[in-house]
Amino acid sequence: MAGLTHDTDEHKAIRDSVAGIADRYGPQYFLQRGRNGEGIEELWKDLGAAGLLGLHLPEEYGGGGGGMAEAVVVVEELAAHGMPLLIWVISPAICGNILAHHGSDAMKKRWLPVIADGSQKMAFGLTEPDAGSNSHNVNSTARKHVAGWAISGSKYYISAVDQCDALLVVARDGDLSTSDKSQLSLFVVPTDAPGLTYQQIDTSIVSPDKQFTVFLDDVEVGPDALIGDAGNGLRQVFSGLNPERILVGALSTGIGRYAIGKAADYARERKVWSTPIGAHQGIAHPLAESHIAVELGRLATVRSAELFDAGQPCGEAANIAKFAASEAALKALDQAIQTHGGNGLSHEYGLSELWFVTRLMRTAPVSREMVLNFVAQTSLGLPRSY
Ligand SMILES: Cc1cc2nc3c(=O)[nH]c(=O)nc-3n(C[C@H](O)[C@H](O)[C@H](O)COP(=O)(O)OP(=O)(O)OC[C@H]3O[C@@H](n4cnc5c(N)ncnc54)[C@H](O)[C@@H]3O)c2cc1C
Repeated sequence: MAGLTHDTDEHKAIRDSVAGIADRYGPQYFLQRGRNGEGIEELWKDLGAAGLLGLHLPEEYGGGGGGMAEAVVVVEELAAHGMPLLIWVISPAICGNILAHHGSDAMKKRWLPVIADGSQKMAFGLTEPDAGSNSHNVNSTARKHVAGWAISGSKYYISAVDQCDALLVVARDGDLSTSDKSQLSLFVVPTDAPGLTYQQIDTSIVSPDKQFTVFLDDVEVGPDALIGDAGNGLRQVFSGLNPERILVGALSTGIGRYAIGKAADYARERKVWSTPIGAHQGIAHPLAESHIAVELGRLATVRSAELFDAGQPCGEAANIAKFAASEAALKALDQAIQTHGGNGLSHEYGLSELWFVTRLMRTAPVSREMVLNFVAQTSLGLPRSY
């Protein structure tokens, strides 16, 4: 089926390349690694070697010279093969985009080639125990001194920091902030820096990418650790947050395609009475509705990527895409589980264990309520309640 979106020849080639690699591993590889708390180093290395981690990064720094439109194809296709990789969204997309847009030449030379070839990774540290939906509340503080900066505070729900060589830290600038207004600055902090420690948060999510609380206790970094301009971090961080929303759209529509594909295959084969269960409209219609919702989510995701790549305002489109795609994915997965009857809950069929990673997309990186607040206030001009 053609669906609502159309791949260019280049996008089709990227999709085929991702599918070729993903098929060699399969959904059970992703789930088993996640279940056992193990990583996916071989898959990551293969994606890097095929140029599928940095195709949105500038060519002069080892990337492919494309944009979010190409990143969307990769992330969606991996998820459509049962591999929703959070780390792709974090290291190449959020951190890679912030560095590509605001990093110094030296910083780009140091980090972008290794992010693109997969040999190193960077985690993203914005959220804190008291700064989730309200990111203005960031309390981790960076203080300037003669030889650089000292950073103290804690970060909460930091994905995959155990696999990463550095953490992109969003901190309150101790000198530029006042008691009523925080000015944020961004830093690249090596994960082996003295004073940086982390502790795993146990969650229900089955994924090779685990979650951590990170503690920063007077962590010293040189002046070259600062990204862009001090105090301008909030504006700069949006070069990473819109790509994050767009790629959560892609990851969600990929899961939706995976779930609906498996459900349709099962519903064509499984007979309980005289016809395959797919002939019953109680099974067929919800799957058809899910397909429609996922295709609309894909359309919104592709459009928001186009706007981002064209340098146009894309906040509204990225929020709409994230919302539409994540809601569609969750309904599609639930319906796929239902279509499989009891088998929907077995590990063998590779569906139910994707539940929490899919459910996550309703809460993070931006919750459905905060998207609705954004749309109510920005698109509809309604007043804020907070
Ligand atoms: C698995 C996982 C991975 C994550 N990875 C990262 C990461 O790598 N890096 C990182 O920096 N962060 C990460 N996060 C954090 C994530 O971005 C936050 O969890 C998210 O922004 C929500 O913040 P919170 O958890 O503090 O919820 P809260 O802000 O405490 O919100 C609680 C509830 O109240 C609602 N709410 C709050 N304010 C309003 C309002 N004004 N109107 C209506 N409803 C409201 C929210 O929608 C939510 O439902 C991750 C989170 C999870 C769960």
